[in-house]
Amino acid sequence: MDHTEATDPHAEIRDAVRKLCADFAGDYWRKLDQDRTYPTEFVTALTEAGYLGALIPEEYGGAGLPLSAAAAILETVQSSGCNGAACHAQMYIMGTILRHGTTAQKEAYLPKIATGELRLQAFGVTEPTSGTDTTSLRTFARKEGDHYVVNGQKVWTSRAEHSDLMLLLARTTPKEETAKRTEGLSTFIVDMRAALGHGLTLRPIRTMMNHNSCEVFFDNMIVPAENLVGVEGRGFRYILDGMNAERLLIAAECIGDAKWFIEKATAYARERRVFGRPIGQNQGVQFPIAKAYAQMRAAELMVREGCRKFEAGENCGEEANMAKMLAAEASWAAGEACIQTHGGFGFAEEYDIERKFRETRLYQVAPISTNLILSYVAEHVLGLPRSY
Ligand SMILES: Cc1cc2nc3c(=O)[nH]c(=O)nc-3n(C[C@H](O)[C@H](O)[C@H](O)COP(=O)(O)OP(=O)(O)OC[C@H]3O[C@@H](n4cnc5c(N)ncnc54)[C@H](O)[C@@H]3O)c2cc1C
Repeated sequence: MDHTEATDPHAEIRDAVRKLCADFAGDYWRKLDQDRTYPTEFVTALTEAGYLGALIPEEYGGAGLPLSAAAAILETVQSSGCNGAACHAQMYIMGTILRHGTTAQKEAYLPKIATGELRLQAFGVTEPTSGTDTTSLRTFARKEGDHYVVNGQKVWTSRAEHSDLMLLLARTTPKEETAKRTEGLSTFIVDMRAALGHGLTLRPIRTMMNHNSCEVFFDNMIVPAENLVGVEGRGFRYILDGMNAERLLIAAECIGDAKWFIEKATAYARERRVFGRPIGQNQGVQFPIAKAYAQMRAAELMVREGCRKFEAGENCGEEANMAKMLAAEASWAAGEACIQTHGGFGFAEEYDIERKFRETRLYQVAPISTNLILSYVAEHVLGLPRSY
C-alpha cells in the first residue's frame, strides 16, 4: 500500500528494507513470541545492511541519512510484519552522544555503534516510583575522584540484555538542592559488559508481547567520570533534545503497523465469503477499515511534517508529539478493524494478527503515554496552565 511511491524520496530504501524483511516471515516472529526470545538474526541483518546506523554521520562511519529516511526504514520494517522494537533504539539513543558528547566520546563510540560492534540500545530513564514524573527519579550518581558510584533502580529498560551500553539518566544533585527540578540530572554511558555482576543486575520482565524489557538494579556500580555525557546536571535537557526524533520514529513504526493491519484486513474482506458474498461488501465491515485508513493517512502526514521541520532545524515538538499520538491511535484502530474483520481467525496465532495487535498497543503508553502528549499540547501549544 504505497500510494505515495511516485513522490517518495525514500522509495529505494523502502524497497530494499522490504526485501530484507521478506526473509523474516510470520513463522519466525511467532516462534520468538512463543519463546520470548530475541530476534538476533533479524537485528544482525538490519545492522549489516547499515540501516541501524542510518542517522550516524558519514564521518563516524554511519549512513548520514536524514530522519525521514530512518522513519521510512522503521515504517517498512513494521508494514512488512516484522518488529523493529528489538533494535530501533540503536538508531536514535546515540543522538545524545552525537549532540552533547566530547570529540573523544564520539570517536570512541559512534563508529562502533554504526557497525553494530557496540550495541547502544538500552535507555535507562523510567523508575518504578517516579514513573512519568522523570525529574523525581531517585537513582543517584555520587562523584568520588575519577569515577561516579551509582545506586538505584530502573524499570522497563528495554533490550538491556541485548545491549553493550546503556544511556543512563541519574541524579547528581538532590532535587531539593536544585533551583529547578529539571536541574541536577546527568547522563552517563554505562558499559554494561564491565558492570554486569559488579554492581549491575538485570531482571527480565515478562510482558504481553515479546519486548525484552528489564528491571535494572544499581548497587555501588562504578562509572568512570569520563563516561559523563556533556555537563553534569544538564542531563534532563539532553534527554529532552532527543525525544522529538524518538517520537517521530516510533510514530513511523505505528504507521507501518497500521498499513500492515489495513492490508491484511482488506485482503481478507475481499476473499472471505459469508452469506454468498464477500464480507467486504458489507458497510459494517468496510467502514472501520476505511476509517482506520483515513486516520493512518492523517497521522502519516503529521509524521512527514514533523520530519520536515526536524530536518530544517526547526522546533518540531508540537508535530512530533501529535504524530506519535495520532499514529499510535491509528495503528490501534487498524488493529481493531483487522481483528474484527477476521472474526474468529483474528485470534488464531498463525494469522499473526493477534501478535501484532499486542505489539502495537504499547505505543499508546511508551515511550510516552497519550495523556502526557495531550498535556504537552495543552500547555506548550495552547498556552493552558501546567496541569502537573
Ligand atoms: C514494554 C515497555 C518498554 C519500555 N521501554 C522503556 C525503556 O527502554 N526505557 C525507559 O526509560 N522506559 C521505558 N518504558 C517506560 C515507559 O516510558 C513508561 O511506562 C511510560 O512513560 C509510563 O510511565 P509509568 O509506566 O510509570 O506510568 P505512570 O507514570 O505510573 O502513569 C500511569 C498512567 O497515569 C497517567 N498519568 C500519570 N500522570 C499523569 C498526569 N499528570 N496527567 C494525566 N495522566 C497521567 C499516565 O498517562 C499513565 O496512563 C517502557 C514501558 C513499557 C511498558
